Amino acid sequence: MVIVAHVDPDGDALGSALALARALRALGKSVAVPLTPPAYLAFLAEEGELSAPLPELRPGTLLFVLDVGEPRRAAGAPLEGAAAIFNLDHHGTNARFGDLAVVEPSKAATAVLIKEFIDALGVTWSSDMATACLAGLLSDTGNFRFGNTNREVLTVAGELIDVGVDYVALTDRLQWRDTSYFGLLAKVMATVKFAFDGRLIYAELTDAMRDGDADDDSDDFVGVIRYAEGANVAVLLKERGATVKVSVRTRDGVSAQRICLALGGGGHVAAAGATITGTMAEAEVKMLAAVEAELNRTSGARS
Ligand code: 5GP
Ligand code: MN
Repeated sequence: MVIVAHVDPDGDALGSALALARALRALGKSVAVPLTPPAYLAFLAEEGELSAPLPELRPGTLLFVLDVGEPRRAAGAPLEGAAAIFNLDHHGTNARFGDLAVVEPSKAATAVLIKEFIDALGVTWSSDMATACLAGLLSDTGNFRFGNTNREVLTVAGELIDVGVDYVALTDRLQWRDTSYFGLLAKVMATVKFAFDGRLIYAELTDAMRDGDADDDSDDFVGVIRYAEGANVAVLLKERGATVKVSVRTRDGVSAQRICLALGGGGHVAAAGATITGTMAEAEVKMLAAVEAELNRTSGARS
């Protein structure tokens, strides 16, 4: 069996994969998890628990694809050649690819589905399984602060804590960052701009700012600017060679998903992303147009 997740795995992708792998291994299954975590999440995996990307799948492989909204976003192994694909996800834009698709956009995290799946398998929860699963919940709910935080999430978290997870230590550890993070954050915050009467805040991270360090732990920079008072859209534009990764966060009925679908990406209503081919300046123009269209749509609907 092989478990993959989305490219640039976040805490939900990695935590869900590790929790499921640990449960399947407890059932005696041999499971490969070919994921490459960002530096700030590497502590979640035991030495040797993750493997390098697989160039191909062995015949007969059952492939779990977790937290992947669309097949081209899967990373770690090619989907072709799997004997069967089990797609477990919570992205509203997931077209339910694969042989078996359990896609529930109402779930705050894929980790909620993993919790239900492991319960259904009848595996006894270990603290290692529970820690990985709780990391998924914490990641996608922003430590239980985002709009997707609900009773279900808190109940599942409580059940995981009952298994013996040190919740305080885990939330603390998930927020540790390499010392290089803070200087880069300062450079990115210096680029902050506002548009549309302050309803949009955005910032950019260029390749030059990175100083050759590709692994920059910048995933949560957009989470810093999203708290600008009066803004209901926050965008981080991240240059990566000839492409620009766009991360969008919204509130007040504005849809990050619509903005990102217009840019060729996808995601959730309040958090979505896209990758634009072109320069930073070109990506900025496209992003501004997509945000403006969504702001016009939402203010139009209200008046
Ligand atoms: P982030 O901005 O943190 O990379 O992504 C926010 C959310 O949108 C995550 O759930 C992520 O999986 C999803 N997402 C990011 N980029 C894309 C994309 O290009 N396509 C799709 N379908 N989802 C994306
Ligand atoms: Mn997720």
